[in-house]
Amino acid sequence: MSNGHDTFSSSLEPVISLTNLHRIYHLAGEDIHAVNDVTLDVWPHQMTAIVGRSGSGKTTLLNLIAGLDTPTRGEVRILGRDLGQMDESERLHLRLTKLGFIFQSFGLMPLLSARENVGVPLRMRAVDPDEREAYVQEALEWVGLADRAHHRPYELSGGEQQRVAIARALAEGPELVLADEPTGQLDTRTGRRILDLLRRLVEERGVTLLVVTHDPQVLAEADIVHEMRDGMLVESRAKEGVVLPGV
Ligand code: ADP
Ligand code: MG
Repeated sequence: MSNGHDTFSSSLEPVISLTNLHRIYHLAGEDIHAVNDVTLDVWPHQMTAIVGRSGSGKTTLLNLIAGLDTPTRGEVRILGRDLGQMDESERLHLRLTKLGFIFQSFGLMPLLSARENVGVPLRMRAVDPDEREAYVQEALEWVGLADRAHHRPYELSGGEQQRVAIARALAEGPELVLADEPTGQLDTRTGRRILDLLRRLVEERGVTLLVVTHDPQVLAEADIVHEMRDGMLVESRAKEGVVLPGV
């Protein structure tokens, strides 16, 4: 390996760094260890997947990473910053400016058109209207839905709704996109198309993508797959040819 490559690798910082992370819910006198001592680095410009059965703690983990839930103990670092040291407005700012979200159920507003849905995060950031429309147009073109801009979600297929959701995440210009079962409500072929789009998000837009799923198609496509069972990470494997810094 060349010196240049070594220097590059050692200077690369993880986008997400979790250290001994725990989230315990107390329910009817019982402790539920939803996330149990998870230590994990997610590296930039890769597609990382976390796979696990329903109830294994995937959504809880994503919520902790997004700063939407607070760990019982342990540390979450995003883009070099300790979430636990940030106040609520700093965490909100981080979510609005650096993170994008994609959900199984698409998370679109039913009364808004595709175009308006994509523009929502930009409105929340008070981006100037002309600039906002330019971002929205570009994002809708990128997902191939410029001709559906004025349709509402109910006038779109599941795959199209998920493309709107991807455009919404993209319009924010995020460094990190978090996806919770993004193909979970789609048939295999439509899921494949969404997956190709998610792959291009990494390849063409330089985004770091973390997707939690149990869809085998996603697992085959991801650079790194971590398996989660009962709140714990039990196994990690990299796609052939993928070199992880610091591992
Ligand atoms: P997954 O996304 O992998 O299906 P979750 O993170 O949703 O798993 O849930 C992990 C575990 O934590 C499950 O046993 C679930 O019932 C429990 N859990 C999740 N959220 C809560 C909550 N708000 N209160 C109590 N238990 C919860
Ligand atoms: Mg879940």
